[in-house]
Amino acid sequence: MPKYAEIIVDISHESVDRPFTYRIKEELADSVTIGACVSVPFGKGNKPVKGYVVALSDYADIPVQKIKEIENVLVTRDDIDGRMIQLAAWIKEHYGSTMIQALKVVLPVKKTVKPKEKKTIELCMEKEEALLLLSEYKRKHQSARARLLEELIKERVLDYQLVRGKLNVSPVTLDKLKEQGVLTVHVQDYFRNPVIINENRENDKVLLPAQQEITEDFINDYRSGIRKTYLLFGVTGSGKTEVYIRMIKEAVREGKQAIFLIPEIALTYQTVLRFYHHFKDRVSIINSSLSYGEKYDQFMRAKKGELDVIIGPRSALFTPFSNLGLIIMDEEHESSYKSEGMPRYHAREVARKLAEMTGSSLVLGSATPSVDSCYHAKNGEYKLYKLTERVTGRELPLVHTVDLRKELKEGNRLVFSRKLQELIADRLQRKEQIMLFLNRRGYAGFVSCRSCGYVMKCPHCDISLSEHKNGMMVCHYCGYTIQKPKVCPKCLSKYLLGFRAGTERLEEQLHQLFPGVRILRMDGDTTKQKDSYEKILSSFKEGNADILLGTQMIVKGHDFPNVTLMGIIAADLSLAANDYRAGERTFALLTQASGRAGRGKSAGEVVIQTYQPEHYSIIHAANQDYEGFYEEEILYRKMLSYPPVCHILAVMVSSKVQKEAEDFAGKLAALICKSHPEAVIIGPTPAGIQKINDVYRQVFMIKSAEEELLIQIKDILEKETDAVKGNIPSVMFDFDPIHPF
Ligand code: ADP
Ligand code: ZN
Ligand code: ZN
Repeated sequence: MPKYAEIIVDISHESVDRPFTYRIKEELADSVTIGACVSVPFGKGNKPVKGYVVALSDYADIPVQKIKEIENVLVTRDDIDGRMIQLAAWIKEHYGSTMIQALKVVLPVKKTVKPKEKKTIELCMEKEEALLLLSEYKRKHQSARARLLEELIKERVLDYQLVRGKLNVSPVTLDKLKEQGVLTVHVQDYFRNPVIINENRENDKVLLPAQQEITEDFINDYRSGIRKTYLLFGVTGSGKTEVYIRMIKEAVREGKQAIFLIPEIALTYQTVLRFYHHFKDRVSIINSSLSYGEKYDQFMRAKKGELDVIIGPRSALFTPFSNLGLIIMDEEHESSYKSEGMPRYHAREVARKLAEMTGSSLVLGSATPSVDSCYHAKNGEYKLYKLTERVTGRELPLVHTVDLRKELKEGNRLVFSRKLQELIADRLQRKEQIMLFLNRRGYAGFVSCRSCGYVMKCPHCDISLSEHKNGMMVCHYCGYTIQKPKVCPKCLSKYLLGFRAGTERLEEQLHQLFPGVRILRMDGDTTKQKDSYEKILSSFKEGNADILLGTQMIVKGHDFPNVTLMGIIAADLSLAANDYRAGERTFALLTQASGRAGRGKSAGEVVIQTYQPEHYSIIHAANQDYEGFYEEEILYRKMLSYPPVCHILAVMVSSKVQKEAEDFAGKLAALICKSHPEAVIIGPTPAGIQKINDVYRQVFMIKSAEEELLIQIKDILEKETDAVKGNIPSVMFDFDPIHPF
């Protein structure tokens, strides 16, 4: 029987943002469980406050006489909240954050919002009687009454809004009819449904043999009570979504609920429609464009058992279903599944934990699985399903790789290679559409040679160096710094430059090259407004432009049957990002971008422009060869001990005083050096962004094959940080970073 409980008090104040230890009285021993809501005396006056139990233990590391006692249990573990708090505790432990920060993650809806009312009007008399009344209204030319009664005879119950709007019946008339006992008005609480769907054109599809086989195998597992993680690796357009739907149907058939995770940007109206076709109003969505009330309502609908399926980004994981049975994560390789705020959790890992806690299965799906998931599938930890062909049977597009170094040598200084120009002109003439993709994410001032493609890299880390304003180049992994050379170290050309090219500049050049061309541009600037993303896409689909030019936003989602050419302007941009996942990200982006061309009747062509045509990410993407890419990538990860072979704990120390940040980071690193001589420590060094808002940031990393060891190390660092009083540097953690500090 545990003697002590760690409790997070329900006070939102930084200084109490940690668990406090309380003694458990014997009579409460059974009811004090993790997740229970209890009342405890707090502070000097011992004022009773509410708190949540987040851990139990047999010993306490503070003097026993100082420990207060839990007064009573207010709410015995409500299964839902208890589970979420357990999950928060896991997130806190796993990613290093305060408990309150973790609680805020798992309880995305904190306030309650009064539900909207739904009014309906019901006929209160028998049909015969109503028909008599109707003819009387008609005789007296009471047309509003007649209109209403006619509809009520047909439907019996009508929506109040419809009656007021479409039928144009006034409240006065309604009141009269109510008094006369013709009808009644019902008022009900009603939770806003963010999607209103009228059309229902989709037919049930007969699964193709490959889809059928996977679905059957999954259902077999599910019915035998097997719960595990699956990786559905299916090329774009291979019918994964159809398979997901069948899997969810199976879970729902057994009375369970399902969460369908999707990167926010990929959530299209088309996908939602398909789910509505199958699950009607038992499915709902949450996303950032919903109002606060709408979001709250979706959680309430889930809690009350009105929903079987929720679709949404990361935060949909925390939907309070009472009987969760399946989590599906589409596009599982997407880096947006990793949170960039504190705690820096990865939705894939949290989903695995949640699946384990709830006895659910987890299905990860992608056309370009993350190296991480593929590694687990190859190890046999995940069950692997493959869909290797497109539903349409269409050939994959023809890919041309253009060497930009050659273009320069042969005198073309434009961003568009001659091959790409030629194909654009051809498509314009044939009235087919074109997409141009500028892979700008990952741009970090990397320096490359325009003549030979050489990228300046750190000799210790195989990570590209970033150019700083003072003419120095820095490795953000180990701190290695050198002066930027005047000429390329490999070919002595003087075209050694930081890469810069924006979508706006591309648009200008296109107008010069192809006068009169109609261009839609989609990037961070043109999609600031709500709905603008969908608007641009549908406008393009309707044929309002010849070219859609944009950043990675254009790669996801919609099918454009009339697009027969995809141009990738500078494939190297993401390659040069200064982290070890650059190759993986580039491969995924190029493969997904290529998959956009030729989804309709005509075959597609893709042009990949690059300074490094010999890079394995580019070669394998051009061949649409995932296996080939994976084999090379995993070798590289093994050689340099990067995840998933190894784990990395990144620690960032920040302070307004540069020296304080440096000193404290140094102190922490030295501490670990001593306590864990076997761990590999890299740094400390200034972070990728050295200073934000006058706060200096120092980073160091610890590598280990043992995840548990890193968690122990994190605990030591947390303790050390807690022990420092006063105005201390703050410390942040990141496991297996995706967005480096
Ligand atoms: P993915 O999710 O792998 O990109 P989808 O499930 O969206 O693939 O399927 C691609 C297209 O093929 C969609 O338009 C879908 O409606 C259609 N489709 C999928 N499965 C079938 C099937 N068994 N029969 C007919 N059409 C299908
Ligand atoms: Zn060179
Ligand atoms: Zn380095």
